[in-house]
Amino acid sequence: MNSIYGNIINGVEEKEGEKLEVRSPVDGSLIGYIINSSRETVERAIQASRNAFDKFYISSDIKSRQKLIEKLADIVQEKADLYSELESKNTGKTIRQSTFMDIPVAISHIRYFAETNEFQFQRKITHPEYPGTEGIIQNAPMGVVASIAPWNVPFLMAVWKIIPPVLAGNAVVIKPSHYTPLTAMELVKDIKTAGFPDGLVNLINGTGKSTGNYLIESDNIDMISFTGSTSTGSMVMQKAAKNIKKVTLELGGKSPNIVFSDADLDHAAKGIIFGIFLNSGQLCESASRLIVEESITQTFLSKIEGHLNAFKSGNPMDFDTDISAITIPEQREKIEVMIEKTVRAGGKVFYSKKMEGMPDKGIYFPPTLISGIKAGSEISDEEIFGPVLTVYPFRTEEEAISLANDTKYGLAAGIWSSDVKRAGRVASMINAGTVWINEYHLLSAAAPRGGFKKSGIGRELGLEGILEYTQTRHIFYGNNESGMSDVAYSILIKSQ
Ligand code: NAD
Repeated sequence: MNSIYGNIINGVEEKEGEKLEVRSPVDGSLIGYIINSSRETVERAIQASRNAFDKFYISSDIKSRQKLIEKLADIVQEKADLYSELESKNTGKTIRQSTFMDIPVAISHIRYFAETNEFQFQRKITHPEYPGTEGIIQNAPMGVVASIAPWNVPFLMAVWKIIPPVLAGNAVVIKPSHYTPLTAMELVKDIKTAGFPDGLVNLINGTGKSTGNYLIESDNIDMISFTGSTSTGSMVMQKAAKNIKKVTLELGGKSPNIVFSDADLDHAAKGIIFGIFLNSGQLCESASRLIVEESITQTFLSKIEGHLNAFKSGNPMDFDTDISAITIPEQREKIEVMIEKTVRAGGKVFYSKKMEGMPDKGIYFPPTLISGIKAGSEISDEEIFGPVLTVYPFRTEEEAISLANDTKYGLAAGIWSSDVKRAGRVASMINAGTVWINEYHLLSAAAPRGGFKKSGIGRELGLEGILEYTQTRHIFYGNNESGMSDVAYSILIKSQ
């Protein structure tokens, strides 16, 4: 009998309702079923969050919330192997990646929020116009945050969508992707074990079209925190406008890696491979465009091919497998169609890794390198979200910057050069929320991340990421020492 993964409302798992299959991309096996939550269930979850918010915000402060967050980090740490296994089984990412990256990075991010002292509830100001008066500026919570997460990094995204809003004093209703709910569910159960009040974080499962839509259409939420594709993000923003809800959007990318001829080419080759082939290219900031100085293009590509030849394909649940599965069948189809179109338009697939040893019914796509792309082609501008790297040679620094910025997205970029001054100069010209110099994909919980252009609005992580979940309240402590209010009031109330 396969498991049913229910909704978690008021600390209780509910398993009634329409069922949807959850399958593993590793081998196509049935993992279990989730509930496709109805509008009534969604509204009940939101109300549970609202009831909990009213009590939690008043009865807790930042320090007491941080104690609970720290307890949660300890609990997740204890269960790290279970989390890694669930994450890999559900997404097809290699067990090595889950064990040594996704889960420990997420735990370190939980700990950052447990420990940071950058976020303060309030600060004092003086009002230069009114000597003797004082003001307090508060970072008040939004209330009930509707968090919506994608399928590609389910655990880390659940952490980002739950912990910062809770630290800021909010309650949360989270909807994970209906393809990959397992680790988010485990996290919400552990949140209860850590001692957070029931109902503070509720989880509802279901598809975006039904459950996700009910969540963002509700007038009983105060904010939407969305991570997903740019097209869905645009629709979410339109719905948020209808009810005047604050919205943050973490969307897609088409990130470039620029390699100058003076870079440490061995280190750069590893970084470029890590940038695009980690998680089989299914990361929002995957660096799918390689912009490489023409004089070193062939030498550099040979280094990349050398690494790819040594990659081991196989079952992602084996520790020595290097290549992750593609998480959902629709995604593999999208990758195939985009490559076909690129080839028809004159692009050349000059490398495709020979793959073997994977389970028969799993979903896989080989690491692929493409050149000969014309400017403005679909593969240069649209997110491919797969293990596909397109190559663009350049001759001058200006040309490299122009190629890098020639996209509607602006999430991340990498620059590889031993000339740190030049790298810094180029970084400041790149329209992206994160620019790495001589590294890629190294996330820090202290550093705000998010998109320029169509990669999104708002930031996650760091102080800026926490402040997104707040609204500013100014409290004015009056005192007519200066006589200024007498002057002001007399404008309306003449010498009475
Ligand atoms: P998606 O937009 O299809 O879905 C994201 C979430 O939105 C899912 O939970 C889905 O069920 C829900 N959803 C879909 N339609 C909805 C609707 N009409 N109303 C409400 N909710 C709806 O994205 P995806 O395919 O799950 O994820 C991949 C995308 O996420 C990629 O574009 C990737 O770049 C992006 N992403 C961005 C970041 C970032 O931080 N910028 C991080 C991870 C993933």
